[in-house]
Amino acid sequence: MTSMLDKVIISAALTGSTPMKHQNAALPVTETEIAEAAIAAWNAGAAIVHLHVRDEQGKMVCDPARFARVQQLIRESGADVIVNMSTSGGPGNPDDDHRLAPLALHPEIASFDCGSLNFGSKVFINSPTFLDMLAAEMLAQGVVPEIECFDTGHIWSAARLIDEGKLKPPYWFQMVLGVRGGAPGEVRSLVQMVDMLPKDAIWSCCGIGRAQLPLNLATIAMGGHVRTGLEDNIYYHKGELAVSNAQLVERIVRIAGEVGRPVATPADAREILGLKTPAGIAS
Ligand code: ZN
Repeated sequence: MTSMLDKVIISAALTGSTPMKHQNAALPVTETEIAEAAIAAWNAGAAIVHLHVRDEQGKMVCDPARFARVQQLIRESGADVIVNMSTSGGPGNPDDDHRLAPLALHPEIASFDCGSLNFGSKVFINSPTFLDMLAAEMLAQGVVPEIECFDTGHIWSAARLIDEGKLKPPYWFQMVLGVRGGAPGEVRSLVQMVDMLPKDAIWSCCGIGRAQLPLNLATIAMGGHVRTGLEDNIYYHKGELAVSNAQLVERIVRIAGEVGRPVATPADAREILGLKTPAGIAS
């Protein structure tokens, strides 16, 4: 388990599947915008960038060519930030094969949404059959799953996959709280979920919408790792839009500094998570 004094890994979730540019013009949606947001978030202190890509209409897609372009632009900049690609497909998208497509690009991490839930007006479907297939493909491609848990049942599902040997270490968990249909974005939800984790889990948390900042604070106090970004919340304060992903990262860096938790560099995060440094990045 992590401690209050450990380095904190900051993930920046830049775009997501649901926010739209008309809600916050700072949301990066083109490949160039997403790469620029990733580099700025890394400069601000993010060790991991969590990526989704969008089509010309701004709709979430799983297009590996778009993911590849973003990754290429990030690497060409010299940023050594860890790339985490989404396999979510977006709520309501049932096409399992498309969701696996980004794995062929060998991102260091990809999301592994460990169960189904109501999500906005849709159902985000992650059947046990799909999870078995996703786990096998991630293992085959050498991609570390970020085990996203939206509620206690998802941690219980992860325990099954671990028991069956389908998920292998590192057990990198992301608690996603505050989606209506999942666990409420409350500290007591987080405490319960962290209590359920396997003993060798490494965990992070993000809060959706107004739960973002309170859960960031609780997570830092509990010794967890932190995710922020416009995917989860387009506001900086109530009624005040965030101006960039980097702005949200900068706030976490300040808070972590105030309570004495050093911010993990990408190299630190690779060490904590046991990731191999990709070719082309100085270790
Ligand atoms: Zn995401």
